Amino acid sequence: MATIGGLNDPDQMEEIIASGKADVVYMARALLADPELPRKVTENRPEEIVRCLRCFTCMAERAATSTRRCTVNPLIGRELDGVEVHPAPVKKRVMVAGGGPGGLYAAYTAARRGHQVILYEKEMELGGVLKSEQALSFKHEMYELTASYQRLAAKVGVEFRLGEAVTPELVRQEAPDALIVAVGSRPLVPSIPGLDGPNVIVVNDYYKHQSEVAGTVVVMGGGLAGCECAICLGQQGKTVHIVEMRDALAPDANVRHRPLLLKEIDKYVTVHTSCKAMEVRPDGVLCQDSEGKEILVPGATVICALGQRPCTDTVTALQDTAPFVRVIGDAGRVSTITNAVYQGCHAALDI
Ligand code: SF4
Repeated sequence: MATIGGLNDPDQMEEIIASGKADVVYMARALLADPELPRKVTENRPEEIVRCLRCFTCMAERAATSTRRCTVNPLIGRELDGVEVHPAPVKKRVMVAGGGPGGLYAAYTAARRGHQVILYEKEMELGGVLKSEQALSFKHEMYELTASYQRLAAKVGVEFRLGEAVTPELVRQEAPDALIVAVGSRPLVPSIPGLDGPNVIVVNDYYKHQSEVAGTVVVMGGGLAGCECAICLGQQGKTVHIVEMRDALAPDANVRHRPLLLKEIDKYVTVHTSCKAMEVRPDGVLCQDSEGKEILVPGATVICALGQRPCTDTVTALQDTAPFVRVIGDAGRVSTITNAVYQGCHAALDI
């Protein structure tokens, strides 16, 4: 009997069986991400499948804490306690501020419990930080997570209000029983001379400005976001440099993902670690190396990937505006999608 594993796409599996290439196709991570996948396929509901992101959080977490976590499925790993989402004893009116992954999952879970849920997103498009993933071919599953969560949330009755920010006045007017604050974070753009110049693109906005990126690029910031953008640009044939103040790249990547990421960096990117950016110029970034020497890292376009900071002003304004207020995800502390989704799920379970 021939078997094939590691697949994530039901159509691909169907094709393998139909063509006789294998008798059995088995799934592993695909079922951590969505244990209902086989049922959704047999009931012809493929649009409801939540797909694995290939983020390796499950394997990294196993190595680090001996627990099982999945970025897109916060219910796994707690099977002994029960993974059912029980109806709430009292149905409540719930506002969710912010339509990133954490806010979407919070809205979905609260609606599954029978609450009446309205999700507000200040932009016209859901997704939060996931919107920027659409520019990276190897992160497309992550970008598609928004649509998957949106479909699940809509199916259980979540109402969406796009282009509408949640303000204290709006909360007072709507008077919900519970408010989940999932307003996310903003890019960190320090006051380095020239960083506000026309040759600079903030990494979160790269997906809107891809065509403006010239042949040689300097990525300022060697965290996960900067590294992934640099690899993407390198794969397009661009000459790419990363400037990073610390002595290592991507310390925020998980232990299983990081070695693979660094292998790709080796292929496509020239790395300048222990290098402090002093000034952005039209022809590159003037830096100071670890010995205090000034060097110009050349590039016509500069990508600013220097991190994120929580939208604390919005969080502060919304505190105490409803009987139950819970701040989740980057809005509380900049972290991973995994944490945002878990916190969203648990906030909704606590209402
Ligand atoms: S943690 Fe990431 S890699 Fe693992 S199953 Fe979930 S989505 Fe897939």
